[in-house]
Amino acid sequence: MKKYHLLTPGPTPIPPNVAAKSAEPILHHRTKEFSAIFNSVQEGLKYVFQTKNDVLVIMGSGTAAMEAAVANTTSAGDKVLVCSVGSFGERWAKLCQAYGVDAEVIREESGMPVNPQKVQDALKKNPAIKAVFLQHTETSAGTVNDLKTIGKIVSETPAILVVDAISGLGGEELRMDEWNLDVVVSGSQKGLMTAPGLSMASLSPKGWKAVETSKHPKFYWDFKRIKKSIPDGETPWTPAVTLLQSLNEALRMIKEETIEKVWEKHRRMAKAAQAGVKALGFSLLSSQPCSVLTAAKLPEGFDGGLLIKKMLNDYGVSVAGGQDNLKGKIFRLAHMGYIDAFDLVVGFTALEKTLGNMGYKIPAPGKAAMEAATALV
Ligand SMILES: *Cc1c(COP(=O)(O)O)cnc(C)c1O
Repeated sequence: MKKYHLLTPGPTPIPPNVAAKSAEPILHHRTKEFSAIFNSVQEGLKYVFQTKNDVLVIMGSGTAAMEAAVANTTSAGDKVLVCSVGSFGERWAKLCQAYGVDAEVIREESGMPVNPQKVQDALKKNPAIKAVFLQHTETSAGTVNDLKTIGKIVSETPAILVVDAISGLGGEELRMDEWNLDVVVSGSQKGLMTAPGLSMASLSPKGWKAVETSKHPKFYWDFKRIKKSIPDGETPWTPAVTLLQSLNEALRMIKEETIEKVWEKHRRMAKAAQAGVKALGFSLLSSQPCSVLTAAKLPEGFDGGLLIKKMLNDYGVSVAGGQDNLKGKIFRLAHMGYIDAFDLVVGFTALEKTLGNMGYKIPAPGKAAMEAATALV
């Protein structure tokens, strides 16, 4: 028997009190008891999104809300801009392609954030662009984009800004209204400390105008249908009742701590993880690292896939490897949501042991875990 430690950037471990809520009796969804929970989830989500807008809840993992965002705000043949700094940026491009939306793609090298100047130039050069799609935090590379600057740029054009904050929300600073973000989507299983299965989307008034002109066929995740039932404390279809009960508890915990303190904690964890990576003798993949996970480059020729497998098999510690072109070349350690500084100590200890078992010479044994512990206050 081995204790299991989940340190991946989604899904993430969840607090026992959040898990327990999902074991409560099933509520019918057309009752005042359910509406009370649903309304409380609404308030909690608005707080975490830092918005006055409604937050639509869609049953499905984060990608469901990404697809719904494309389906609800664009039409076939529309010209849009996708800013891709990794695998999840490519997902926006694939979704646009699936819907016959004509996407121009800005691609940055692995580890680089989107250059806001390139966004400004593309919008200037092509005023027909109706929407800009990008990630808040690109989970495949551990990069945070400068949403505040890009939000300002896009707000001065007719285009809307659509943000995938699936891994960033509830960890990395995000201010939807203040930063002029028009559509923000997220999921339950990362910073929101809830089991996988729920996704969310919030729209600004400008975002809702785009919904009015969208011509794609849709039904289950039609934003207008979902919005219409919010004042009644309901969803149009049977919701994942137990997941919402859990999410309500997780949101209560975030509110109790305050979102500013949650962001601050994540910043501290990121700094500690970055120091841990350096203590192992590795460098960061990202030149603009995010607060919710850390991606580290492995030495040339090192078998990253084997490292991940061995950590799990030998020590029960689950971290993530690289995706697509980064497969085998990096490891990614999450520090989002319920993951805390002691978990980072576990992660770095398992990393160091496994690296040592694989013949890698650790520059200063024990130092990485000590650096991780600096996240403790
Ligand atoms: C996890 C993640 C997704 C995908 O979410 P699913 O819940 O697997 O559908 C999309 N974008 C980012 C940035 C993510 O981290």
